Amino acid sequence: MALRNILKEGDERLRKKSREVTDFNQRLWTLLEDMAETMKDGEGVGLAAPQVGVLRRCVVIDVGEGLHELVNPVFLTQEGDQAGSEGCLSIPGEYGIVHRPQKVSVRYQDRYGKPHELEAQDFLAVAVCHELDHLDGVLFIDKAERMLTPEELQQMTED
Ligand code: ZN
Repeated sequence: MALRNILKEGDERLRKKSREVTDFNQRLWTLLEDMAETMKDGEGVGLAAPQVGVLRRCVVIDVGEGLHELVNPVFLTQEGDQAGSEGCLSIPGEYGIVHRPQKVSVRYQDRYGKPHELEAQDFLAVAVCHELDHLDGVLFIDKAERMLTPEELQQMTED
């Protein structure tokens, strides 16, 4: 496994629509493993392939309940509404208040191409929505109702 360089906001690759994964091979597994390692190193809860410059539809998520690898994820349902502060490894040091569904379900494939469904609520639903947005070139700052102020950021780091 290896750490990969995380693209920062302003890199046009973060704004592109990623293509479906079609080859479930060692190249994909290495990518997923590198993404998980890079996410942990950055103390993030999710990372999408375009953030490491690979325009393919796969994400890794770990909100503290175990690692999820979602390949070719697609929303099945989205319900409810929640608002919370969100950040992104591609936009370091900035946080904003974003509305997301309370509960989502997605269909996805695992690293071997086998189909599964995931139901996610609360913070996991936020992470799923945030990462899936990356696959369509959407960043949380596009959806934030407002960004946190320097005072609010300071309070976050003190908590
Ligand atoms: Zn992000």
